[in-house]
Amino acid sequence: MPAEVMPEKTFQGMHPHGKEIHPIFPRRLEGKIAIVTGGAGGIGAATARLFVRHGAKVVIADINDEIGLALANSLSPFGTYVHCDVRSEPEVKNLIDSTMSCYGRIDILFNNAGVLGNQSKHKSIVNFDVDEFDRVMNVNVRGVALGMKHAARVMIPRGSGCIISTASVASVLGGMGPHAYTASKHAIIGLTKNTACELGRHGIRVNCISPFGVATSMLVNAWRKDDDDGVDGDVSFRTPNEKEIEKTENFVNSLGNLKGTTLKAKDIAEAALYLAGDESRYVSGHNLVVDGAVTTSRNCVDL
Ligand code: NAD
Repeated sequence: MPAEVMPEKTFQGMHPHGKEIHPIFPRRLEGKIAIVTGGAGGIGAATARLFVRHGAKVVIADINDEIGLALANSLSPFGTYVHCDVRSEPEVKNLIDSTMSCYGRIDILFNNAGVLGNQSKHKSIVNFDVDEFDRVMNVNVRGVALGMKHAARVMIPRGSGCIISTASVASVLGGMGPHAYTASKHAIIGLTKNTACELGRHGIRVNCISPFGVATSMLVNAWRKDDDDGVDGDVSFRTPNEKEIEKTENFVNSLGNLKGTTLKAKDIAEAALYLAGDESRYVSGHNLVVDGAVTTSRNCVDL
């Protein structure tokens, strides 16, 4: 299987799913070039789909080539896939450079790839495992910083661009996830604020999004451990079935503050769409929390 499929260079001016769209449907990212890391699954895939619906061309970057390629093919020619492990600087550099050589610019980088880490084995700080900590930090923080570095490199000469990263409610409150995960998501806030300060003078906006629990592979696989089936958190990737998703959503709802609504990946994609589009043109350095006020209420929920 090819690790990389590059898109056609020509823009055909017609949306592949145009017939599904009402003529007055506002296409908020018309003609924009976007990259979504972790774009094969969950929140990233929902965002890639929504961005394409809004007229963007999206490069899906992930390590799950099979699912990433299938998604890109379903969005073709507006979605394409590039293999990229965000922990690797050469691969992140290649992602940015190959997108530049294909499209000539990058308007939006969505730094979304992330891992939760082992949910229960290293729960207590007295069981702190430095290898586990490094593994989580490498994806969640090093990966985000590398994305920011190489996106900024090509956005600065153009004097515009938009960088969004996925943090978490664990970036705001303690007690919402494993120690390494919480530390990594707090670090994303720091990186977002610092790069927003630096890159503002170049017309580049930098923001992040902090979701509450969404029943994606990450969360379902982590909680599946509680069923004692030997699955080890996100170490083992498996696409959840409908029953598992429903069970996870019910559990998230029971912990949530806002009743009557279930948080979906699409809701996070809508937040990314807002931050990526011109509607948020003066918003930078912001952490957009999408949690139904969980972090505003005082209870910790042990995600
Ligand atoms: P997911 O597991 O469905 O998707 C994560 C994607 O990242 C997968 O496609 C995976 O292959 C990819 N990925 C993992 N390691 C990678 C690497 N090294 N390089 C490139 N890609 C890699 O999970 P999700 O819930 O969609 O997670 C997306 C982001 O949302 C993560 O940053 C996560 O921390 C964050 N988040 C999720 C939730 C939630 O409840 N699901 C809540 C808050 C924040």
